[in-house]
Amino acid sequence: MKKSIVKDFENIVGKEHCFTNPLDLSFYSYDAYPERPIFPDIVVQPTNYEQVEKIVKLCNKASIPLTVRGAGTNLSGGSVPVKGGCVLLTTALDRIIEINTEDLYAIVQAGVVTQKLADAVAEKGLLYPPDPASMKVSTIGGNVAENSGGLRALKYGVTSNYLMGVKFFDSDGNFVAGGGKPVKLVSGFNLPGLMLSSEGLFGVMVEFILKLIPPPEAKKTMLVYYSDIIKASETVSKIIASRILPATLEILDNFTIRTVEKFHRIGLPTSADAILLIEIDGHPAAIEDEYKKIYKICRSLKGEVHIARTEEERDKLWQARRDALSSLALLRPTLILEDATVPRSKVPEMMQLIRKISKKYEIIIGTFGHAGDGNLHPTILTDKRDKKEMKRVKAAIDEIFEETLKLDGTLSGEHGIGIAKSKYLEREIGLDTIKFMRKLKNGIDEKGIFNPGKVLR
Ligand SMILES: Cc1cc2nc3c(=O)[nH]c(=O)nc-3n(C[C@H](O)[C@H](O)[C@H](O)COP(=O)(O)OP(=O)(O)OC[C@H]3O[C@@H](n4cnc5c(N)ncnc54)[C@H](O)[C@@H]3O)c2cc1C
Repeated sequence: MKKSIVKDFENIVGKEHCFTNPLDLSFYSYDAYPERPIFPDIVVQPTNYEQVEKIVKLCNKASIPLTVRGAGTNLSGGSVPVKGGCVLLTTALDRIIEINTEDLYAIVQAGVVTQKLADAVAEKGLLYPPDPASMKVSTIGGNVAENSGGLRALKYGVTSNYLMGVKFFDSDGNFVAGGGKPVKLVSGFNLPGLMLSSEGLFGVMVEFILKLIPPPEAKKTMLVYYSDIIKASETVSKIIASRILPATLEILDNFTIRTVEKFHRIGLPTSADAILLIEIDGHPAAIEDEYKKIYKICRSLKGEVHIARTEEERDKLWQARRDALSSLALLRPTLILEDATVPRSKVPEMMQLIRKISKKYEIIIGTFGHAGDGNLHPTILTDKRDKKEMKRVKAAIDEIFEETLKLDGTLSGEHGIGIAKSKYLEREIGLDTIKFMRKLKNGIDEKGIFNPGKVLR
């Protein structure tokens, strides 16, 4: 990048918020998806909207690729600057502007960490439900750009169910505001909807209005042990089919259970083939009724039901689930977390297929995930330096997605397409849909400065 352009960036954000030395740049050359690192030319950290506007205008004028980055926890390569250029960090745009307890919304900046918002809202006696397992570090901007879900998504939905308004800078540096504070709003196009799952391809989002809800009165958390994972997955389908919607319905396979237990020693049953983590919430009387029905279903499929008796026990169970990915990551140098999502009734079939694929390609796959949503995370443990094994891993991933699509599933339930899955996208949505998406992208971002090389390639 020319020295004069670096100077322009420095003039906008100040030298202390502009990074160009290779060590600094290296931190922004990768994210949570194991691809080869690609260095940006410059990283800038704006502290206000005026600076964002100027950065976008400069990038557009000089045709500099612009990749927005929150915490870089995405699992599809979305924040890797594949064409170099400028990485815009949102981490200094981290103000919770308002928590409105009368109209039940919050106004927050893009770089607010999800957990920080959840805690601030809880202090006011309200709930912001989307709770990705990465919420201690992920940002609201990243959550919107990926339409992130979480452990509570089964009952409470994902980020899209809470996004009421968005403010962003388009490629000309214009300040666009979509949506607003009323819960009913149909003036003009649905711009919040457009920006959801946009993976940084449509603009730099700086501010959001998010819906809040009253928290449930009571909760009950169960851990159910199974000696056969298929019976555990059948339990999931049966609970949903019986019209009960738990807040959470998560599955961990034996490999994941043993790994979490090895690193965290929280007393999980390492001999179980699978466990389900079920939480129901709502009015205490309704919970008791639902609990009886769930208990019956679990027992009919030979599940052994244990209830968390104290808050502490409950927290331990949640931690076990949240630690699943980080525990698996300790086992081998490379972890590839997939996001295959199928209709819920197909969870048992998908579980069986993943097992078969793991055996066929002789690779380790630990599976856990939001079973109640049909959103499974087959997690491949490998070493990207081992070329032979990586060949088998790639073939296994191709097969997992082939089978997912055959079961009317989708390539991504929550992690997005990014670089990781762009090669499969046409198979899921068809060429005409790809063409329409391209027209949309080209119309919004004529020079293609926003996050080039992602989703549509
Ligand atoms: C351990 C672990 C657990 C996880 N668990 C979950 C889970 O339970 N559910 C889930 O859905 N995901 C999960 N994820 C994935 C990830 O945390 C989410 O995708 C998250 O929303 C990314 O947020 P981020 O701030 O890290 O965004 P980044 O990774 O920095 O960015 C993600 C994408 O959004 C774009 N982007 C970011 N901010 C903006 C903005 N302000 N304007 C425009 N574009 C922007 C980026 O360009 C990029 O394409 C997990 C990841 C890890 C590592």
